[in-house]
Amino acid sequence: MRKQRTIEKSVVIRGTGLHSGREASLTLHPAPENHGIVFHRSDLGSVYIPAHVRFVSADRSTLSTVLFDGQAAVQTIEHLLSALNGLYIDNLVAEINGPELPILDGSSRNLLEVILVTGIVEQRKAQTFYRVARREEFVSGNKFLSVEPSEKFEVDYEIDFGPELLQRHRFTLSEVSYSSEIAKAKTFCFESDIHKMRAMGLARGGSLTNALVMGKDSLLNPEQQTYADEFVRHKILDFLGDIRLLDRPIVGKFVVRRGGHAFHTECLRSLWENGILYLSRESSAQPAEGGSGVTLTDHLPISR
Ligand SMILES: [Zn+2]
Repeated sequence: MRKQRTIEKSVVIRGTGLHSGREASLTLHPAPENHGIVFHRSDLGSVYIPAHVRFVSADRSTLSTVLFDGQAAVQTIEHLLSALNGLYIDNLVAEINGPELPILDGSSRNLLEVILVTGIVEQRKAQTFYRVARREEFVSGNKFLSVEPSEKFEVDYEIDFGPELLQRHRFTLSEVSYSSEIAKAKTFCFESDIHKMRAMGLARGGSLTNALVMGKDSLLNPEQQTYADEFVRHKILDFLGDIRLLDRPIVGKFVVRRGGHAFHTECLRSLWENGILYLSRESSAQPAEGGSGVTLTDHLPISR
């Protein structure tokens, strides 16, 4: 049985917000069992917003995922949540002294490294997962997402920005696969969109070191590229963050075409609200000691 996890001690990460361009200080704190992942806007006093899809601001979550509790917002949360999903961390307070998390190098690699150096602590209580009760499909314009039951977290993701930029990648989550296949994939944008984004007050902290920038025919900064299919791997990185917006992780087999933050979180909200998810203690992500796989035990009622 896999136990819940938190980090060993508090750790500070500083950097610039991608969209706001503001300097930000992010402090990760350990949290007790069954606490979940919660954001703390320390500049506003005791404002705490759980990392949960019910707080996602649908209209603001276009180029990044934004939580809003009616009074305060926290933006660009997806890369941290992705790293926490990749490391199977359940309980943590993410204290941020402003509206947006730092973008760092545009991937989740720095967050992963900082957490690994700080140390991960196993807690006493068992980790529980959400499982998917049945196959579901979502279509919105040309966007598509399907999910079906699986013993693991699997995703088959495709992006399609025309024949020149069509990428597909399949990924099965494990701690090893996350750090080697996904964590180093940087965010990306198109040179032709930068002016428009800046006019909307977005991407003010963007640079050629924290995003891959696609020009007319090729990357403007190929020296920053790690993977040949890095754009789609970054979409998987984002998806792993967006799909972690519940009080515990999901296992299931996802297929996503042309997704984005708003679509990912709309689908997750629908799965959560319509009773498609149920709780189960075990996951084959890390088989029980001495076991060879999954035991479907202890189906618990969903508490919201
Ligand atoms: Zn991203």
